Amino acid sequence: MVTAAPGEERSPALALVNSRRLGTAGEVDDLAEPHSATEWLHRHELPPAPVGTDGLSRLTALRAAVRELLTALAESRSPEADAVATVNAAARADAAAPQLAWPAGPRREWHSTRPGSLDEVVASLARDAIDVISGDLGELVRPCEAHGCVRFFFREHARRRWCSTTCGDRVRAARHQRLVVEQREASQGRS
Ligand SMILES: [Zn+2]
Repeated sequence: MVTAAPGEERSPALALVNSRRLGTAGEVDDLAEPHSATEWLHRHELPPAPVGTDGLSRLTALRAAVRELLTALAESRSPEADAVATVNAAARADAAAPQLAWPAGPRREWHSTRPGSLDEVVASLARDAIDVISGDLGELVRPCEAHGCVRFFFREHARRRWCSTTCGDRVRAARHQRLVVEQREASQGRS
């Protein structure tokens, strides 16, 4: 089990983007198959909608769109218009309304008009993406700087540059390796 990148616990949309990543044995995609996608929904406490082939392509299209939006945000540029349209269409799939709940204190809940459906899933992911991108969290969105890593995270500490300690260790090991090679080349050059 891979460790979640910082922020995934606060944003299912961030977790969606990171559902495709680099593993030790190459690319890992949690949404490659309907059954793995169903598990992924369960793991992220999303509505337990049945995922078929259609559902899978809706989720991966939304993922690609959110990735483009996060990339645009991190690069301070405008996103592709298609990505905005895809997220907005997904958000409209379920005309959910905010409802006030008061268990121990006030809390906003979204009540779906299509509970348990994939519409509810994609709409809640899209709503979260919109909240993150247009809100304060948007300023924290960063791509992991480790070579080959495609995950994003929320930079809650100013100096953080990697999505995980694994990526940080990998970068440090590569840097060390480079130094060793440079030193060897330098000493060979002298002899
Ligand atoms: Zn990383």
